[in-house]
Amino acid sequence: MSTALRTGRASPPPSGAAGTDRSGGRHVLVIGAGLGGLAAAIRLRHRGYEVTVLERHAVPGGRCGLWESEGFRFDTGPTLLLMVEYLHALFRDVGRPLEAYLDLVQLDPNYRVHYADGRTLDVTSRLNAMLQEVERVEPGAGPRLLRFLAATSRLYRVGLDGFVDRNVHQRRDFLSLRNAALLVRGGAMRRLDRMVAGFFRSDELRHTFSFQSLYLGLSPFEAPAIYGLLPYAEVAGGLYFPLGGMHALPRALARLATELGVRVRYRSDVVALERENGRITAAQLADGTRLPADLVLANADLPYVYQALLGEPHPRAGRFAFSCSAFLMYLGVRGRYPGLPHHTLVVPADLRSACTDIFTRYRVPDLPPYYVCNPSKTDPSLAPAGCENLYVLVPVPSQAPGREIDWTIEGPRLEQAMLARLERFGLPGLRDRVVTSRTFTPADFGSQLSATRGEAFGLAHGLDQVGYLRPHNRHSRYRNLYFVGQSTHPGCGVPMVLISARLVAERMAEEHGVTR
Ligand SMILES: Cc1cc2nc3c(=O)[nH]c(=O)nc-3n(C[C@H](O)[C@H](O)[C@H](O)COP(=O)(O)OP(=O)(O)OC[C@H]3O[C@@H](n4cnc5c(N)ncnc54)[C@H](O)[C@@H]3O)c2cc1C
Repeated sequence: MSTALRTGRASPPPSGAAGTDRSGGRHVLVIGAGLGGLAAAIRLRHRGYEVTVLERHAVPGGRCGLWESEGFRFDTGPTLLLMVEYLHALFRDVGRPLEAYLDLVQLDPNYRVHYADGRTLDVTSRLNAMLQEVERVEPGAGPRLLRFLAATSRLYRVGLDGFVDRNVHQRRDFLSLRNAALLVRGGAMRRLDRMVAGFFRSDELRHTFSFQSLYLGLSPFEAPAIYGLLPYAEVAGGLYFPLGGMHALPRALARLATELGVRVRYRSDVVALERENGRITAAQLADGTRLPADLVLANADLPYVYQALLGEPHPRAGRFAFSCSAFLMYLGVRGRYPGLPHHTLVVPADLRSACTDIFTRYRVPDLPPYYVCNPSKTDPSLAPAGCENLYVLVPVPSQAPGREIDWTIEGPRLEQAMLARLERFGLPGLRDRVVTSRTFTPADFGSQLSATRGEAFGLAHGLDQVGYLRPHNRHSRYRNLYFVGQSTHPGCGVPMVLISARLVAERMAEEHGVTR
């Protein structure tokens, strides 16, 4: 018998692909309409579950959000879309053409890297141009780039096949001899910066091919070499952009989910999960509504779900390591900066010291690396005519206990320092051109996205906290409570949370029987 929602309102019948309810009494409540929650809802609905998504905000996307002001549209979180095969797979697996929902364009160059001495390098997926670029920065580096890509392609396969793209909640699946051999053979356990230094002599190229661990909130000087798979994925697979902005992604997923028969309820803030006999029985909303469920899938950040919604911290909560955070500036500017590409990364002379500040000393570096996104370069509709919507990301520490940064003071200071730096960098007159602006700090990650330490990228991704060692995608005692998203397996990033969604949907289907 199908489990009806007891909300006092009649629930519309699901309008699934077959037009009938194939749930067989399996009603899943998904808490959160982030990319992970929406992708999992789509897959579960396709498998025949009855699915309701509860999202506290008025729009989908979570970290992949939208801020609109004065005719400017800003993506609030992710801006670099790579490994798009996982996005294609989601649509293909449920029998829908991605092209009907999203207009993806490939960028060229992928991004521009600016070095402290004023030189630049364009990272591109056109191999001949990429070889010329590295030769310009470091003569003789061309053949070594090819060897680097060959080596990191192996890391890509080891990482994806062995650790990322499969469920690893069984110790034997993760800590197997086969996996150990793969790791050792590919040099995946070495330090990333040392592995990269084996291929390139200049600091410039060393930084260019290792900074990508910052995407995971991890220092390139501490990250394991397995994350060399990221620069490989960028060059080999390319970088894409959905027209309309990155927020078009969650919009597209929400549309697909709704078409398949998923109910998405916005402004529904879950405040507690009810338990009985070792099972989650219902979710309570802030407005007092009680929603019963057969299965619950939490997309809200995992440490927060344990702490706040269950009131039972994760057993390893005291030992969790967190990723770094980000200070974000959204700037709507009059006029255009024609020389500014879609993506720009600015690397300071002393990247190591900046990373030590962020990851070890928990202070904001004097000269942090930063990243500027200018998406109206690719899609002018994101800003009023003749204007540009700039997004600036500065990696900063998450809040370490006892060493918290007061962002009411640090935020305005850093904002002014960055505006001055951006003007010196090559955006003259920036301050006079700003029409509208907003900042987002680690304090906002905490208050708006329930990030325990104000971190941007979920739990850290050191080798001691990935795969089997990362909090699993099902609760150990409440066997009908599952997790999807960046703080469970496999981790942070758009492709990773799409993988997380597929893996948890497979596991739920295995453990709780489905109609297909
Ligand atoms: C600044 C920034 C830049 C990034 N850049 C990139 C990039 O360029 N490329 C890339 O691939 N990745 C990037 N990432 C990472 C990527 O955005 C995330 O890994 C991914 O979006 C996380 O998705 P998620 O589904 O795990 O969670 P979230 O996006 O956090 O979604 C969780 C959802 O749960 C909701 N929620 C929480 N609590 C409750 C509750 N109690 N009741 C109801 N709803 C609740 C939230 O409102 C939210 O919508 C970036 C992240 C950040 C923060």
